[in-house]
Amino acid sequence: MMSTPTVMGYAAMAQGQALMPFTYEQPKLGEHDVRVSVTHCGLCFTDIHGIDNYYRATTYPFVPGHEIVGYVSEIGKAPSSLKIGDRVGIGWLGRSCGECEWCKSGEEQLCIDIVQAGTWVPYGGFSSSVVADSRFAYVIPDAMPSEVAAVLLCAGIAVYNPLRLYAKQGAQEIGIIGIGGLGHLAIQFAHALGYEVTVISSSPTKKEEALAFGADHFVASDDKTSFQKLEFNFDLLLCTAHGNINWEWLLTILKKRGKMVLVGFPDVAFNSTDVVVHELSITGSFLSNRATMKEMLFFAQEHDIKPWVELIPMSKVNEAIERVKYNKVRYRIVLINDAANAGR
Ligand SMILES: [Zn+2]
Ligand SMILES: [Zn+2]
Repeated sequence: MMSTPTVMGYAAMAQGQALMPFTYEQPKLGEHDVRVSVTHCGLCFTDIHGIDNYYRATTYPFVPGHEIVGYVSEIGKAPSSLKIGDRVGIGWLGRSCGECEWCKSGEEQLCIDIVQAGTWVPYGGFSSSVVADSRFAYVIPDAMPSEVAAVLLCAGIAVYNPLRLYAKQGAQEIGIIGIGGLGHLAIQFAHALGYEVTVISSSPTKKEEALAFGADHFVASDDKTSFQKLEFNFDLLLCTAHGNINWEWLLTILKKRGKMVLVGFPDVAFNSTDVVVHELSITGSFLSNRATMKEMLFFAQEHDIKPWVELIPMSKVNEAIERVKYNKVRYRIVLINDAANAGR
């Protein structure tokens, strides 16, 4: 009998631990699944939250990685639009139950069984190959570099989806909080979607970069005078930061009935007065449906929207994690698979 082929990956064996080389049996393909040989995988703060069990949903050994680009190497029995050798990308959502009210209405990112829908299940993209539902694997436009596509599949879609939604509803004046992996893409997308963009950041040294990405204005997050001038200014605030956020000040710069949209996972605390009296909304946005993902990839290509990426070999994943944790990356790390069987 032939032995089951194995996959080489990197796993946290317990909460908060450094990743270790981890070899596991190749998961079997479901009817609609594809196997993808991983060439590139982005490192997202959500992976680190996963390692640390921040969402209280991690099972160990945990192989992170959900900004995956690679080549289709095997296809399940059901008919698929993909073929062997296609270059595809997979984001955080690797499948969905297909049966709940949200899946049936084409909003699979809200699937009731969301924990099982993650590309991390059973093991994520810090691996020589992954398995996902072929309907959640997206063909990458030919001219788009794999590392660019990788980051767009999570950081890109996380910001594009709400920016597009609220632009359609008429929002024009936007404040983007934070210039990191999400923020630097949000500025580019918001500019291309026609918003007047103000960037609010705790790093004044990033001002020139913010303007180069397409921001119209820049405000330091501790500049009280500027905040006072911006009272009731914004239709929308998009919060991409995850630390040191002055929520009280932010609420004062929203227009009446303005919206604050969270796309990261910051801890939130504020007094409810402004929310009630000015009828503000505070809401979240999580990834997108599949149609919007496809639209985003082409929008990014058309408008030349690109993340700034540092490429690091996957075998150095722990160094990469340290750098993300201590905010030492401009603006995103993509791991290149340097395992012996990468791309096979
Ligand atoms: Zn992510
Ligand atoms: Zn579902």
